[in-house]
Amino acid sequence: MPDLLPVRLQDLLHPRKSGVQEIANGLELQRGRPTRAGVSRNWRRFGVPGARFLLDVQSGSLHCIDEAAWDVIGQLDEAVPRGAIAHIGADQIAEVAHDLDMLIEEGTLSYPDDPDTMPNTGQTLGPGVVKAMCLHVAHDCDMRCGYCFAGTGGFGGGRSLMPAEVGCAALDLLFKLSGGIRHLDVDFFGGEPLLNMEAVRTIVKHGRRLEAASGKVLKFTLTTNCLGLTPDIGGFLNDNNIAAVLSIDGRPAVHDAVRRTEHGGPTHERIMANALQFVQTRPDGEYYVRGTYTRRNLDFVDDVLYLADMGFDSISFEPVVSPPESPYSIREQDLPQVYASYDRLVDEMIARRRQGRGFRFFHFDLNLANGPCLAKRLLGCGAGREYVAVTPAGELYPCHQFVGRDGFIMGDVRSGIARPEIGSEFGRAHIYAKPVCRGCWARYMCSGGCHANAHQMNGTIAEPYSIGCRITRKRLESALTLAAAEATGDSRA
Ligand code: SF4
Ligand code: SF4
Repeated sequence: MPDLLPVRLQDLLHPRKSGVQEIANGLELQRGRPTRAGVSRNWRRFGVPGARFLLDVQSGSLHCIDEAAWDVIGQLDEAVPRGAIAHIGADQIAEVAHDLDMLIEEGTLSYPDDPDTMPNTGQTLGPGVVKAMCLHVAHDCDMRCGYCFAGTGGFGGGRSLMPAEVGCAALDLLFKLSGGIRHLDVDFFGGEPLLNMEAVRTIVKHGRRLEAASGKVLKFTLTTNCLGLTPDIGGFLNDNNIAAVLSIDGRPAVHDAVRRTEHGGPTHERIMANALQFVQTRPDGEYYVRGTYTRRNLDFVDDVLYLADMGFDSISFEPVVSPPESPYSIREQDLPQVYASYDRLVDEMIARRRQGRGFRFFHFDLNLANGPCLAKRLLGCGAGREYVAVTPAGELYPCHQFVGRDGFIMGDVRSGIARPEIGSEFGRAHIYAKPVCRGCWARYMCSGGCHANAHQMNGTIAEPYSIGCRITRKRLESALTLAAAEATGDSRA
């Protein structure tokens, strides 16, 4: 992306002054040289020659920097060896220093050693107010995916369907627990929720009655493997304004290698036909195709592009959640290939947007100007506090991934939350409580990672899953690179 260089993103996001990128002696004169820890915690350099960026973690401002600034800042966090800036003249170093100082002065760049502007809460953020629910309407499935975290539907227990009255009681509880909060979210999940459409229809009807009586707004989403996604069901989802998440893993061979029918047959052809037919009936969005990549398709960028070529314009891909010994799990040695896939995805997305055939990639949708609220920045997803999962029997868990794990039942739909201390425990697992997150440049955008992955890999929600962290950080850098390309007009046709 060499054409990014002449345009400085900082000029676009903070159009007060032109020029940017600088460092040193001004800082040393005024405040002393910043520490290495401060620089690596609050200033993140990333990119490739020709497209270098500096993210200011505290303010969220993103700056294009030149090679001189890259090297000078690198000296500060000691990522660039001493002597590497010998070729840069003293004048140029002073210029970098001046620009950095100026940015610090005008507030678009934080001084690296300044304490976080966020409150350094050493306490729990409390059990929270529940405003979202994941209804496991089917602990059963018509597929048998190799990596299924739900034990191919049963979540470690017997196969079962949620009776409609359990789902309705869950909604009653949601409306009660949410107090004054107006916008509520409910996901239909499984297993495969389409196996229990009768209950889904009843629960939606009940939800609409509760909405009318309370003045609240209920947003439904349904996640499906698409095997049973008939035109009739698609029509119901459209008529009831229900968002859809369609699970497809990409290229036929990749998909069929993992996602099989109960009898071991392939599924790609059928689910693809169903999904395309459905998406064509809702041209204004409100769906995305969600794929899972494993160590067997580290070139998952080709799966993303395949889905885009098939006509899906809203796509999400996530690394598999699998125990380390699984043949699917991503290992340390796989990371270079994972990173290369994200790099190529960024390049492809820029190129396609230029050609007028762009698509959305869920994890690259950053809202740089208006980020999430404070609690979300500190704590991420809200599992166990703002969000609970409901089993077919009506038990409440902190999220869908905790269902079936010992010690995480929080209550049930009829009697409510009996163990608020579980919510409080999640409220304690914020970024300031985890040493590794406190020092991580991605902390306000990642917000501490997935609690369920942390618990699965490390046996505690207090210690993030390190490979997940490395993928998250790479993905964020890719998202920021794409945002920079868009802000500089690089994405336009
Ligand atoms: S479709 Fe989903 S729930 Fe069913 S086996 Fe596959 S991953 Fe598991
Ligand atoms: S979970 Fe990992 S990537 Fe996220 S803030 Fe913590 S250390 Fe950083």
